[in-house]
Amino acid sequence: MEDPRQHILPVYRPPEEVFVQGEGAYLFTEDGRRYLDFIAGIAVNALGHAHPAMIEALRDQAGKLWHTSNMFRVKGQEELADKICRDTFADRVFFTNSGTEAIECAIKAARKYHWANGKADRIDIITFTGAFHGRSIGAINAGGNPKYLEGFGPKLPGFVHLEWGDTDALKAAASAPTAAAILIEPVQGEGGVRAVPEDELLAMRKLCDEHGILLIFDEVQSGMGRTGKLWAYQWVNGVEPDILAAAKGIGGGFPFGACLMTEAVGEPMQPGSHGSTYGGNPLAMAVGNVVWDVISNEDFLANVRRVSGTLAQGLKSLADSHPDKVEAVTGKGLLTGLRLKADPKSMQTLCREGGLLAGVAGNNVLRLAPPLIIDDTQVRDAISMIDAALSEWTV
Ligand SMILES: *Cc1c(COP(=O)(O)O)cnc(C)c1O
Repeated sequence: MEDPRQHILPVYRPPEEVFVQGEGAYLFTEDGRRYLDFIAGIAVNALGHAHPAMIEALRDQAGKLWHTSNMFRVKGQEELADKICRDTFADRVFFTNSGTEAIECAIKAARKYHWANGKADRIDIITFTGAFHGRSIGAINAGGNPKYLEGFGPKLPGFVHLEWGDTDALKAAASAPTAAAILIEPVQGEGGVRAVPEDELLAMRKLCDEHGILLIFDEVQSGMGRTGKLWAYQWVNGVEPDILAAAKGIGGGFPFGACLMTEAVGEPMQPGSHGSTYGGNPLAMAVGNVVWDVISNEDFLANVRRVSGTLAQGLKSLADSHPDKVEAVTGKGLLTGLRLKADPKSMQTLCREGGLLAGVAGNNVLRLAPPLIIDDTQVRDAISMIDAALSEWTV
């Protein structure tokens, strides 16, 4: 029989299962097998699968208008941008189709800001080991992961990579006359589900102010309620970025992203300086407005924090009962996981065979990013499935 994947560019290696339906925190295969989804399309399906309000918004918009391009005003963009600026540090928003494009916009806006202020030499974007910012040429250069850069030509100038947690190197890099911005995920996703200590975020803010450089948070994965606050930066008093990249959960499964910025950063981004044909199109905005209304609600976020506590407790108990296989519980809120003593891929497979979908991340982490709507029963089910998989797993 022919491989049904023969014409797919083989940059991914998915398992055999084909999912055809979703409902809340569950996914179903064609033959009706049910899986508890604790990865949610990599922290995307924030409201789970087939959320009624999202379906209604998309259906309704689909019958009216799909696309006009940004040549024309898009009402949904104006509404969503108002809500975003009401609930965050931001004054201006640019809508994109993905996280990568939100990062591209962030990098461009940071450089343009310095250029407009007479400091065209300030081009360096400072990032850290384990960072992931997307897959465009700009984003892989920002991320600096050698595996993702290999074979794709010369490294671009204007990116400085530092060891995670090396505060001396950071001080030196931030004081360089070519420094433009620090770019960091408040909770690293791909790199191993690591939360940046709150005092380090505060120190970065101070460092940026001291040297007149910008602070960019990549909250593509950590944002939209994932850590129990709307944005992970909101856990830290006195820390606001100048620019923030959002995507993943913001569309709940409809592909879009956003680049948020202050008025000062947005000011030089005048007509012609940036653009996107699809960015913020009416379909995306119809869904995005609904997702924002649900997640930005303080009661919803309080419930995320509560269920996060249940999950953290369960993971802690797994670490205690499998000390030979589990190194630590890691992450924050519902962007969490277990750091294991060996490559987590075979653990991921065992979990899937037991009916639980999980992800993996750097540093041997089994990554968990369930929909934000999970309940305590589902958390307990997940914990017992991981427990069974751990018992079977050989390091
Ligand atoms: C997923 C991700 C991106 C890239 O987003 P895409 O939508 O895949 O382009 C960027 N930054 C972080 C932190 C991510 O997790």
